[in-house]
Amino acid sequence: MLIEENFSLKPHNTFGLDVIANLKASIEQTEDLEELFKSDKYRTVKKMVLGGGSNVLFTRNFLGMVLKMEIQGVEVMEEGDDSILVSFGAGENWHQCVLWAVEKGYGGIENLSLIPGTIGAAPMQNIGAYGVELKEVFHSLEAYEIKTGKMVRFFNEDCKFGYRYSVFKGAQRDKYIITKVNLRLSKKPSFNISYGAIKETLESMGVEELSLKSVSQAVINIRQSKLPDPAQIGNAGSFFKNPVVENGYFDSLRAAFEEIPGYRLNEEFTKVPAAWLIDQCGWKGKRLGNVGVHDKQALVLVNHGGGKGKEIINLSMDIQKSVQGTFGIQLDTEVNII
Ligand SMILES: Cc1cc2nc3c(=O)[nH]c(=O)nc-3n(C[C@H](O)[C@H](O)[C@H](O)COP(=O)(O)OP(=O)(O)OC[C@H]3O[C@@H](n4cnc5c(N)ncnc54)[C@H](O)[C@@H]3O)c2cc1C
Repeated sequence: MLIEENFSLKPHNTFGLDVIANLKASIEQTEDLEELFKSDKYRTVKKMVLGGGSNVLFTRNFLGMVLKMEIQGVEVMEEGDDSILVSFGAGENWHQCVLWAVEKGYGGIENLSLIPGTIGAAPMQNIGAYGVELKEVFHSLEAYEIKTGKMVRFFNEDCKFGYRYSVFKGAQRDKYIITKVNLRLSKKPSFNISYGAIKETLESMGVEELSLKSVSQAVINIRQSKLPDPAQIGNAGSFFKNPVVENGYFDSLRAAFEEIPGYRLNEEFTKVPAAWLIDQCGWKGKRLGNVGVHDKQALVLVNHGGGKGKEIINLSMDIQKSVQGTFGIQLDTEVNII
């Protein structure tokens, strides 16, 4: 296995931050993990897994070893009349997996088209978009347990998926390296086009009969028109999660701010769009030095070029303070701060 020193992470994080890792190893098979974690030379070195780097913010150089997840492979495990169970190597590109499924006629992940990164990272925060979350098709995953060196299987219920959450961001943080993700996809897809502008976009595309391809393309078109492309301007998608507040508190906010949008989750809680809160505090499109808030989507913090992770952190804290001051709501970050 090739181990590189002083490895530039600039092309490997979508914020485009110019940082290095002391060491980098490419993980192409599970045996590479065994070799590293058992090696006298590298066993005690601090390590982190990196997929596509589309959900991380490096605040400094990484003083340790980056394990670049590159395990490939797509394998059909089981096929029935209605569904198919497919196993994907953790280093496969998520969007390519979506395109593969769409092409084959397997439904369930078409609304998650164009999300950057690897499939191995997808369960970490239960990726979601346009009314669909990974958990709806997730069957199981295989992971290397760092402490024991054993391979462990996690089924859907073991992952305790929630909104941008899994057990791997909670109790099992930094304990496992995901090597395979198994999804159950539908051979008789039902379409979910009620969210956002999917329906309108399909109409404007002139689509008369729904197909996996047309829904996927509609999502791609919407995303390309709304979200900044990391190849053009550094970003990691939504920087903050949408906060969830108690209904009573939301009602009191609505009395003060008539326009405040909210999505009632149940009898107790309401989800509030963080982008609206940030926009109301005057942050949308603001630039501080080399970093700023995107001018079309207030939830996205950007690196205009040459920015530092610390500048982005400082900006995010200023935003958190003003949202807290104005609305009394704490914004939590979605991006993993390293
Ligand atoms: C333009 C843009 C749009 C986005 N839109 C969305 C969206 O709509 N919905 C959404 O949910 N997310 C979105 N994201 C966030 C991001 O794409 C996802 O979270 C994605 O799953 C991250 O994958 P990655 O491979 O880049 O992970 P990385 O950024 O490389 O890693 C993320 C975290 O997971 C850990 N990790 C990665 N791989 C493994 C593994 N195999 N085993 C153990 N730990 C691992 C890393 O250590 C890190 O803590 C967007 C990002 C961008 C830049």
